[in-house]
Amino acid sequence: MNKLIIIAASFLLTTSCKTPEVPKSEPKEATTTIQEIKEKDHTTFVSNQRPKNVIFLIGDGMGLTQITAGSIAKKTPLVLEKFRQIGLVKTYSTKLITDSAAGATAMATGSKTYNGAISMDIHQNKLKTIVEYAEEANWLTGIVTTATVTHATPACFYGHQPTRSRVNQKLAAEFMTKNIEVLMGGGWNYFKKGLDGRDLIAEAQEKGYFVTDDIEQVGDYRPEKMICLISPKLPPRIKERGNYLPLAAKKAIDILSYPKSNFFLMIEGAQIDWGGHQNQSDYIVEEMLDFDRTIQEAFDFAEKDGNTLVLVTADHETGGYSINGGSAKDGKVEGKFTSDYHTATMVPIFAYGPGAESFTGIMENTEIFYKLKYLMNIDSLKPASD
Ligand SMILES: [Zn+2]
Repeated sequence: MNKLIIIAASFLLTTSCKTPEVPKSEPKEATTTIQEIKEKDHTTFVSNQRPKNVIFLIGDGMGLTQITAGSIAKKTPLVLEKFRQIGLVKTYSTKLITDSAAGATAMATGSKTYNGAISMDIHQNKLKTIVEYAEEANWLTGIVTTATVTHATPACFYGHQPTRSRVNQKLAAEFMTKNIEVLMGGGWNYFKKGLDGRDLIAEAQEKGYFVTDDIEQVGDYRPEKMICLISPKLPPRIKERGNYLPLAAKKAIDILSYPKSNFFLMIEGAQIDWGGHQNQSDYIVEEMLDFDRTIQEAFDFAEKDGNTLVLVTADHETGGYSINGGSAKDGKVEGKFTSDYHTATMVPIFAYGPGAESFTGIMENTEIFYKLKYLMNIDSLKPASD
């Protein structure tokens, strides 16, 4: 019966719209399990609406409890409560419990891989990322994070390294080979004291980037390309970094939307995960509320624009977090943790805008890539990386 429905669905898709072709030669690294996922991906598209722009927000370590904690603390509805298309995502990598590198690789490239891989497959071949596809199709692109810009999640959207550790300078150098318009996060030192003694800050300026270390000083100025590196290495907590993330999101949207071409923007709330690792409810709540203000910037733009898909999801849950007490009236959360690492629990995905209904139901994290690639109409581009 299920098979019949799938056949009928693919028939409908082939007759009613341009169906993405199943790749003729499958990548040699694919295992049976991964292969099945890929074929399923191509039969689960339900939307023919294609967005002009995509804003993809990743709350690192943001499980359902983290979201609940944010909503209790805020006392008024989270922006996420305006999203009507909601699904659940299976986050496992080649291990049951993923890390952020394999999690981001799955969403950025459509392939499950080993923990620690920066957009490399299980045989350490490069996997082409959604940002690389987008660039090839002349979309403007941007990456914004509250980690270093060379941290696992943002790096998986532009870089390719067999391991995530001790490759900050290599990733910064890789970034320089791309044509990504906006990059914001921490990691000034990895550019200033770059690979082989290079000064990538100077190189970026030569390539036409406006480079700064302070988002607030940018004000209304709208450069065509911008790199903002707010800290030498890892960015600090809110107390020190202030309103950086919502401001960075707003500026990135401002820069990318101005020329009226298509744009793809990835924004990461990285430190929700760090609160989970430290088993600190207060840290999680603080980061959730910051992320909520950031989602607001994306939502407000999308609502006005009417042609932008906003996706909000997580790479995994962190902490095995639960809420065992507190007060809704006082906005107080009493959290408990079962782990100081990630867990295998599914994470929610929220979608708004054209194509949003494609993200309902239960899906593999790899499906997000295939759905995006289809919705962005870049399915005909070749999967081979440079
Ligand atoms: Zn983590």
